[in-house]
Amino acid sequence: GYHKVLEENRKLYNQVQDLKGNIRVYCRVRPFLGGQPSHYSSVSNVEEGNISILTPSKYGKEGKKIFNFNRAFGPSATQAEVFSDMQPLIRSVLDGYNVCIFAYGQTGSGKTHTMSGPDELTDETIGVNYRALGDLFLLSEQRKDTICYDINVQMLEIYNEQVRDLLTTDEIRNSSHNGINVPDANLVPVSSTSDVINLMNLGHKNRAVGSTAMNDRSSRSHSCLTVHVQGRYLTSGSTIRGSMHLVDLAGSERADKSEATGDRLKEAQHINKSLSALGDVIASLASKNAHVPYRNSKLTQLLQDSLGGQAKTLMFVHISPEPEALGETLSTLKFAERVSTIELGAARVNKDASSTSNSDVKELKEQIASLKGA
Ligand code: ADP
Ligand code: MG
Repeated sequence: GYHKVLEENRKLYNQVQDLKGNIRVYCRVRPFLGGQPSHYSSVSNVEEGNISILTPSKYGKEGKKIFNFNRAFGPSATQAEVFSDMQPLIRSVLDGYNVCIFAYGQTGSGKTHTMSGPDELTDETIGVNYRALGDLFLLSEQRKDTICYDINVQMLEIYNEQVRDLLTTDEIRNSSHNGINVPDANLVPVSSTSDVINLMNLGHKNRAVGSTAMNDRSSRSHSCLTVHVQGRYLTSGSTIRGSMHLVDLAGSERADKSEATGDRLKEAQHINKSLSALGDVIASLASKNAHVPYRNSKLTQLLQDSLGGQAKTLMFVHISPEPEALGETLSTLKFAERVSTIELGAARVNKDASSTSNSDVKELKEQIASLKGA
């Protein structure tokens, strides 16, 4: 009878919600640089969670491809708008959650702009990293009569599968933690936005050391700002811990195999390896596999505690509007799609559950509503 169908639909709906709750995917389209006025854009429309891409015949079927995300930001979205959508996730760190936010995309697509901001920082242009810490300070101040928080930060760089502490000049040793090698990097207490700005500047300076072209290097390494929070309830004395990784990933562009040689090729291989390891981990979490391949890269080892389990993950995909970037844009969007709509459960529950787009959720909602009314 329809009670069984109703029950089945409810189960499916919850599954979809559950998945959406753990792995969110946002997408942001960078504006044209230098304000070219009515330049042809490969992004034809950004609406609700949808991004429409115009594809000339060179890339397969001519026409429009629509990609669906939890959120989509067009070229005119402000830093404040972007941050406000992430705010509840960030705030949950103070409630003891582990949060992981990645900026993914090809070099020049706006990852650093979102996470840190442009070179010239103002109140309007500062990025997620500064805003997130500012917000944690604000909220911890508001809670100070109930709970006392300690906030500490780490800044790391992963380059060619080597982890480097950006808050010191020394190379860091690997130490054992939960049976996995993760870096034992400097953990620095912070209590104000100016502390954070000073540390970011130090990290930025250290990142440039030993590299001829800083921008080059930053696009071929991952940088990770980690925030550790410990709260102590004033009355009971009990404590909670939360952590947040804010990751500006290496550029996702594929190296041209015929051109890349030597160091460039090695770098490209390391980047490909770690980005696909990240995709594999997220995909295996989404499909609730028993084995999650964290050990396949330094990046996934480092983030292990903040991926899966009760952790909240946000993959923030960046694309460029330039027609010349269309090939990379499509592969970025396909990667994101793989992460967000990966088969729901290795068991492949049934056809409806194999996709998790908003329209599916809407459809299930409507079905449930109509069955209730029946
Ligand atoms: P990535 O880190 O992905 O290589 P960047 O963040 O450095 O890319 O962005 C490339 C250029 O585009 C920079 O000059 C940056 O300031 C600019 N840019 C990126 N996103 C935006 C945006 N949303 N609004 C204005 N300028 C942007
Ligand atoms: Mg960058």
